[in-house]
Amino acid sequence: MSHTHVAGAIHADVSVSGPGWLRRPTDVNALVDGLWSSGVRRRPDGELEVAGVPVTALAAEVGTPAYVFDEADLRERARGFAEAFAGWRVYYAGKSFLSKDVARWVVEEGLYLDVCTGGELAVALAAGIDPARIGFHGNNKSLAELQAALEAGVGRIIVDSFIEIARLAELAAARGVQAPVLVRVTAGVEAHTHEYIATAHEDQKFGFSIVTGDAMRAVEECLGAPGIDLRGIHSHIGSQIFETAGFEVAVRRTIGLLAAIAERTGQILPELDLGGGFGIAYTTLDDPRPTVELAEHLNAMVEAECRSTGLPRPELSIEPGRAISGPAALMLYEVGTVKPVVLAGGGVRTYVSVDGGMSDNIRTALYAAEYSATVANRASDAAPVLCRVVGKHCESGDIVVRDEFLPGDIAPGDLIAVPGAGAYARSMASNYNHVPRPPVVAVADGRWRTLLRRETVDDLLALDMG
Ligand SMILES: *Cc1c(COP(=O)(O)O)cnc(C)c1O
Repeated sequence: MSHTHVAGAIHADVSVSGPGWLRRPTDVNALVDGLWSSGVRRRPDGELEVAGVPVTALAAEVGTPAYVFDEADLRERARGFAEAFAGWRVYYAGKSFLSKDVARWVVEEGLYLDVCTGGELAVALAAGIDPARIGFHGNNKSLAELQAALEAGVGRIIVDSFIEIARLAELAAARGVQAPVLVRVTAGVEAHTHEYIATAHEDQKFGFSIVTGDAMRAVEECLGAPGIDLRGIHSHIGSQIFETAGFEVAVRRTIGLLAAIAERTGQILPELDLGGGFGIAYTTLDDPRPTVELAEHLNAMVEAECRSTGLPRPELSIEPGRAISGPAALMLYEVGTVKPVVLAGGGVRTYVSVDGGMSDNIRTALYAAEYSATVANRASDAAPVLCRVVGKHCESGDIVVRDEFLPGDIAPGDLIAVPGAGAYARSMASNYNHVPRPPVVAVADGRWRTLLRRETVDDLLALDMG
C-alpha cells in the first residue's frame, strides 16, 4: 500500500507529520464510524465498553493483552452475508479466526466453514460442525490431512496441484469413496487493497492457471479419476479487496472456463466458488462496500456471463473471513512506557509501548498493515499528539499501529484499544520472545467468557523437553 505524504500537515513544534490520509482529530475521544464493532461505545465516564462490559473490568479479570470479541456483532456480520447472498453458500474462512464457539456461531447463522489444515479441521469437528458443511483448502495438504478429510466426510476438498489430484484419487479409491472436489484456478487477476494489479498474477503458489491450460488439464484428470467427484471450480483473487473490478474479471474467466469445459468434455460442472477477500475498515482510509451491494454486483456479473455463454446459473459460493471476524474484535493492551523521540529533521514522535506486539498481531510487521487505536480506559482533554504504538519485542519493526493521534497525556497504565483485531491476529500469533499468547474473550449482553485461555509460561515450558 502506498500513501502520499501531504505537505503542510506538519506540526514540527510538537510532533512529526503523519501520513497524508491521517487527520488530526478534533475530538481525540471520538470513535471513528465503521471501525468498531456494534457493541463498542464510550461511556459517560469516558471509558470504552464492549456489549455493556467496561474494558477496565475485562482487563482486571483476564489481564492484558486480550482479544475481545463482540459476539452479537460477529453473528450479525455472518447473518448479513447469509441474507445478502441468499441462494449462495457462504463459507466462513476459519483461518481468519477459529475457535469451537466461533465455528458454532457462524453455522448457527446459516454459514458453512472453510478450513485449510488438519488443525483447523480438528477444531471444526470438535465443535460438532456437520462435516458436509466443511470445505478443505490448502496447496500442500499432507496425506494424513487428506485421509482425515475423507474419514470425516467433508463436503468438498479444493485441489491445488496435479500431485494432489493423484494422491486424493488414490486415497479415495482405496477407501471405496468418491471425494467431492473443486479445482482451484488462477483467474489471472490479483486484487490487492485498493489496486487492481494485473501483473505477476500467475507467479504465485496457488491454483491452476486458466491461460496456460493447466486448469483444463486438472479438470480432465479429475473427470478421469474414479475416486473423484468433480463438482466445479474455485477462484480466490486476494484479500482486503474494495473494488469489484477484480471479481468481474474472475467471474468472466471462471464462467468462461466452465463453458470451455462443457464444450470440450460435454459436462456442465454445477459449482462455482468465487473465494473471499472482501475488505474491511482498519482506518479512515478504508471504505468497504455494504454486503448487500457486493451481493448485487456479484449476482449481476454472474447473470451477465451466464447469459453470454448460454450456461445455466451455477451453484455459487463465497468465502469471507476477515469481513466477518475482523471488525468483531478489538485488542486491548496496557501502556508500559511512553517515549518522545526527537527526530533528526526536527519534530518529535511519541513511542507508546504496549504489553504485546508482533507476537499477537504480526500484520503490521508482515505486510505494513495500517491500524487505528484509541485510549480505552478514560477520555482525555489533552491535545492530540502523533504516536506510534509499538510492542515489547526485540525488533524495531515490532509496530502495532504505525501512526495514530492519541492524547498528549497518555501514560503508563492507560489501556489502548485497537479495532479490527478479530482477523489474522490471534490466528497468526506466535510465541516470539517466549511471550505467551493472549486470551480471546467474547462479550455478549453485559457478560463475558473465555473462548481461548491465556497461555502461560508453564505451557511454554511443557514443550521444552530439555
Ligand atoms: C484467506 C482465504 C479466504 C478468506 O480471505 P479474507 O480476506 O479473510 O476474506 C477465502 N478463501 C481462500 C481460499 C483463502 O485462502
